Amino acid sequence: MSEQIIAGKTLGNWEEEIPVLKNIMETESVFWINRFKSDFATASKKVELSKADVDDAEERLARFASFIVTAFPETEKTKGIIESKITAIPTMKAELEQYYDTIIEGKLLLKRDDTLPIAGTIKARGAIYEVLKHAETLALEEGLLKSIDEDYIIFASDEFREFFAKHKIMVGTTGNLGISVGIMGAKLGFEVTVHMSVEAKQWKKDLLRSHGVTVIEHNTNFTKAVENGRMQSDQDPTCYFVDDEHSMDLFLGYTVAGNRLKKQLDEQRVKVDEDHPLFVYLPCGIGGSPGGITFGLKQVYGDNVHCFFSEPTHMPSMMLGLITDEYDEVSIDDFDIDGKTGMDGLAVPRTSGFVSKLMKNFFDGGFTLQEKEAQHFLTAMIDKEGIGLEPAALAGVPGAARLFSTTEGKCYLSEKGLTEKMGQATHIAWATGGSMVPKEDMKEFYRQGLKKSDVLS
Ligand SMILES: *Cc1c(COP(=O)(O)O)cnc(C)c1O
Repeated sequence: MSEQIIAGKTLGNWEEEIPVLKNIMETESVFWINRFKSDFATASKKVELSKADVDDAEERLARFASFIVTAFPETEKTKGIIESKITAIPTMKAELEQYYDTIIEGKLLLKRDDTLPIAGTIKARGAIYEVLKHAETLALEEGLLKSIDEDYIIFASDEFREFFAKHKIMVGTTGNLGISVGIMGAKLGFEVTVHMSVEAKQWKKDLLRSHGVTVIEHNTNFTKAVENGRMQSDQDPTCYFVDDEHSMDLFLGYTVAGNRLKKQLDEQRVKVDEDHPLFVYLPCGIGGSPGGITFGLKQVYGDNVHCFFSEPTHMPSMMLGLITDEYDEVSIDDFDIDGKTGMDGLAVPRTSGFVSKLMKNFFDGGFTLQEKEAQHFLTAMIDKEGIGLEPAALAGVPGAARLFSTTEGKCYLSEKGLTEKMGQATHIAWATGGSMVPKEDMKEFYRQGLKKSDVLS
């Protein structure tokens, strides 16, 4: 029997070259340090995107604020800016310490993107930005919008809606990207079609249909659902495809979180500098949201922020892409990983080539977590903090505990000279979704976590 070749090498070659691959293939939890990464100044010279791109995205969202307030009155409090709070989670911190038998030095905060207005998930940052940018481009081309200095409240006018009704937007998704694209696209007047992969929950399809969005259900995984959507969209010149695998606009929409987080931390008098390191743990699917946010944070804090992506042990597509240096050339299938995860927002078998190649320069590392960890912490988060998150949103929560309880994590701290400074550190787990989950679905998630509350084997 001839051995299968994965990106030019046999599995044996790969295992020899990267010993931890064996653990990844056996779906064990791993904590991985990105040794390809250099310091921020050096990394910045290697990539095409820069702070100017982040600023441009921020300015565009500011221009749209008057439209957003008008179209979505729930954003009045934040003046049309789609943003969430950060809160301390001390009882959850104690729970994590007990679960992993470790001490988390420093503060633990939760970033509440589960409560983002309009769409209730982290996707609201990237997807809504991309839809708005597309609408702006069309309106400028058509001459409906004379210049970017006009008041964008006119995007809520009948004239604009009638114009956008002649245009289509399509997207392929495990669910949440579709909700953000669908709700904003439909509000502007676009004809929106969402291609859903097999993981997509029924309530997400129902919700979109109630907004007048066309939902096409695929019995395939995310990669194939996207392929299908892209193919269909390419055949229609009036159709714009929001491409989760390749979109720079989607990525840039996420980056604006960096500046905004700094403002929030400043307000709470949380210091971030060489002696007060900031650690951020971000759930990772295709990589756009954790990548974009990390990129934005690095522009603000440079090497004083340490960013780790988090994936299910059964869906480690970013980790495989980075660790092999092969990016989207490898998928979980190549390494015989089954892809079975309840963290549906992270159910991506192959990472984005664009994002993973860029982020190899900026992610400090990543880790995987088991299904039972996510389930246990989902239930604990409700019990301890009264916060209901969807399964994918829990992926970043154990990050700080894993940093202190794994050999790799401890190594990272000592190599960076941070061990002695961790008492002054701040850890942020990025909660990425949950507020829109129907009560019945949340109850079922809660019950799953009760069953699995046994300690890690
Ligand atoms: C999509 C999603 C993520 C991950 O974002 P990617 O851009 O796919 O990496 C995390 N959490 C939730 C709830 C999501 O929907």
